[in-house]
Amino acid sequence: MSVHGPAPGSRTHVLVLGGTTEARRLAESLAGDRGVRVTTSLAGRVSAPRLPPGDVRVGGFGGPDGLAAWVREHGVDALVDATHPFAATMSRNAAGAAASARVPLLALRRPGWTARDGDRWHSVASLAEAAVLLPSLGERVFLTTGRTGLGAFAGADLDALWFLVRSVDAPEPPHPRRMRVLLDRGPFGLAGERELVRRHRVDVLVTKDSGGDATAPKLTAAREAGIPVVVVRRPPVPEGVPVAGTPDEAVAWVRRLYAEGPGDAAASGASG
Ligand code: NAP
Repeated sequence: MSVHGPAPGSRTHVLVLGGTTEARRLAESLAGDRGVRVTTSLAGRVSAPRLPPGDVRVGGFGGPDGLAAWVREHGVDALVDATHPFAATMSRNAAGAAASARVPLLALRRPGWTARDGDRWHSVASLAEAAVLLPSLGERVFLTTGRTGLGAFAGADLDALWFLVRSVDAPEPPHPRRMRVLLDRGPFGLAGERELVRRHRVDVLVTKDSGGDATAPKLTAAREAGIPVVVVRRPPVPEGVPVAGTPDEAVAWVRRLYAEGPGDAAASGASG
């Protein structure tokens, strides 16, 4: 694939599709790079997001065509999809837009979690599958999958269960009938997670396989308490898109891009 690149001597314009800690770290690193101009795009879901350095734009683009048009209009040379591992629609849109606007695309994805000795994990493909499994595992559920998708747990067949729902912003219906909402944003420490499990007599945890350190202590707290964890698997990264596991790897990919020319970086990927 031939791709467009920056004019000689001009700064490489990198559009980071954000909403994660890694996206912010990447923008922080790139903002200090004189060869790069960085713009971060946020979906606008969170009422008071932590803003990264560089330019920031907020709100959807209007599908892959809208994103491709934005990329062309704003002279974007490279796209980094640093959205959350579960933001599958945006990742698909990024792949489509990168192909049609002919700019290189990298996916920045923190590695998923792996089970350790003593873990009682149940891997499921979706929130709906988690909901089907729950009544066989417990009655007092710590639900940490975010406020969107709570409708999967709103069915009458789960009315006997009680939910502790933790999210950044308040959930809207449909949601579980019997629930308590805990508005909070990570990182979460182990002592606090232990205390939540103890105080609310939690007997099952539901999580996405988000990966990273910021929200991992709940897994340790569950292991210590001997309670099962329902882990929702990640959607795959769109085919053919190279993946970086850390912001540093993504920075190296961007630097290669303007050192070698975007065609080389697009073809070689970040971590092979
Ligand atoms: P999604 O389902 O993949 O995307 C839905 C739509 O939201 C997209 O089609 C796009 O609208 C818009 N969008 C998503 N990310 C965007 C971005 N960075 N900039 C501009 N528009 C964006 O996404 P989601 O799961 O709702 O997540 C939304 C945002 O929250 C993402 O930025 C993600 O990184 C962050 N987040 C998600 C989760 C999660 O569990 N899903 C957790 C933490 C943070 P258009 O089609 O109109 O462009």
